[in-house]
Amino acid sequence: MQEQLRKQIIRDSIISLAVLVLATIWFTKYETFESIMLFLQQHESWELDELFLVLLLSPAILLWFAMRRFRDALTQNRQRVLAEQEFQNKLKFDSLTGLPNNAFLESLLDEKIEAINNSNNTLVFVIISIVKYEALYECHSSQEIDDSLIKLRNRISDISDLDWIIAKPSRNRFALVIEIPEEKNIEVLAHKLSEQLKFIPLNTSEPVIQCKLGLTYFNDNDEPISSVNMMMQAYEALPKIQHDDTAYTIFQKAEEANKLNDCKLRKELSSAISNNELVLHFQPQVVLNSGEILSAEALVRWNHPEKGFLTPDKFIHLIDHHPISSFFGEWVIEAALNQIKKDARVAISVNITVCHIERAEFSQSLAKLLSRYPMVSPSKLKIELTESAGITDYKKVALSMKACTALGIRFSLDDFGTGYSALNQLRVLPIAQIKIDRSFIRNFLTDQTDFMMVSSLIGLASNFNLEVVAEGVETLEQLAKLNDLGCHKVQGFLFSKPLSAPEFVSWINEYNELNFLPKKQVIRQ
Ligand code: C2E
Ligand code: MG
Ligand code: MG
Repeated sequence: MQEQLRKQIIRDSIISLAVLVLATIWFTKYETFESIMLFLQQHESWELDELFLVLLLSPAILLWFAMRRFRDALTQNRQRVLAEQEFQNKLKFDSLTGLPNNAFLESLLDEKIEAINNSNNTLVFVIISIVKYEALYECHSSQEIDDSLIKLRNRISDISDLDWIIAKPSRNRFALVIEIPEEKNIEVLAHKLSEQLKFIPLNTSEPVIQCKLGLTYFNDNDEPISSVNMMMQAYEALPKIQHDDTAYTIFQKAEEANKLNDCKLRKELSSAISNNELVLHFQPQVVLNSGEILSAEALVRWNHPEKGFLTPDKFIHLIDHHPISSFFGEWVIEAALNQIKKDARVAISVNITVCHIERAEFSQSLAKLLSRYPMVSPSKLKIELTESAGITDYKKVALSMKACTALGIRFSLDDFGTGYSALNQLRVLPIAQIKIDRSFIRNFLTDQTDFMMVSSLIGLASNFNLEVVAEGVETLEQLAKLNDLGCHKVQGFLFSKPLSAPEFVSWINEYNELNFLPKKQVIRQ
């Protein structure tokens, strides 16, 4: 636009000048005066001086018009530049506070990241988030809130050094970009900022603003990063402190690396199922008053092609709250059904995540699986629900569990006592068994609290008419005490570690054949 205007002005000026020059040349060079005189003699009625005046004034008038046009063009241009500037400002700055907005902050931060690569300094990005911003509107007018935001901006400006960048990337968030010497502690900076910005004291009629800070940092030892990713890191850190009193949080780079590893491992786990890399191991459960082995728990293991033999603590967290849990769980159930088909003496318990059971289609898939094993009695399959995984939607879970019990399947609550709402679970879910967590059994002979816990849980199970299994039994003393307390079954290294399918079958054969101690004696000691 500006270029076009400039061309137009130049063209107008050239035309005016050309007219002036041509007029002068015409007068001086081509005996214009004589021609005019001649013309006048032929037209005697014409006034000489008027004609002269017209001829002399015409170039001047043309020039005057050109100059007016030139001046108008300049004014127009100035107005256009101002409008463009205003538009650019709107694109770059927050209208309320006048601070750089999100888009502009991104480019400023990119420049800072670029610059930090060649220095020994650390770049810190801070997001200052207003707590319960939306709720402020319930009690205060927009004007009051706007005034408070301006006060917060002023407070941030007061505590900022001159070279800090202050921005307002969104309605309820401010941001700071700070360069600090590498050795300076970010924790100290975070603490100081949070103290200064925690509460903004305002007039009583106005809302009190509380802020929480999310920080991340970058220096030239780190992998290259874009401004958007750096901002994301600070945002990602914030939800962790959303529900507590913590005033700031610093993005943990190691956690990020773990997350990336987890993503990779989860992908590998998906293919591990189809590549037959997963295998079930079985740990026997002993009936205390008879010494019989009537059931076992199936525990998954992964023969990883590079990492070797992996126990669940290395990978089981990957399936929780992820669609892979269904795929995984179905594999486990089918592998357990296969084991029961081979050796029907022992019932098998499988561990299934709450998020899998919650799925509406869980019972139908289970029914389909069971129909493929008509020779297996559903009563031989038990499902262990890990309580610590947390049930959010009791209705859904209860519905799904009831549909499964209608198929003949029974449920056990695993790691009982470690979660928050154990009693409620007993009330609303169709449970046949509870398993006392290993952490209570470990020291219950010496720790009074643990003892109270174990004896109460056994009593509770008895009152609810549930079977109770103690996990992690490692000593004969523990075994004897659990027997005295009325525990029904035990599982633990005292009898056996989890074993591969062939090892498990031979272990049971040996246990039954050898009968190395009279069973009651083992139990009663
Ligand atoms: P869990 O279901 O509570 O299983 C008991 C865990 O305690 C097993 O660990 C078992 O090896 C261990 N254990 C049993 N007795 C003793 C003992 O006397 N001493 C000690 N120190 N440990 C004992 P594992 O096999 O590493 O499994 C850990 C957890 O992984 C399981 O806890 C379960 O929550 C989960 N898990 C295992 N297999 C599966 C599976 O197929 N699906 C799902 N969703 N989770 C599984
Ligand atoms: Mg279990
Ligand atoms: Mg357990």
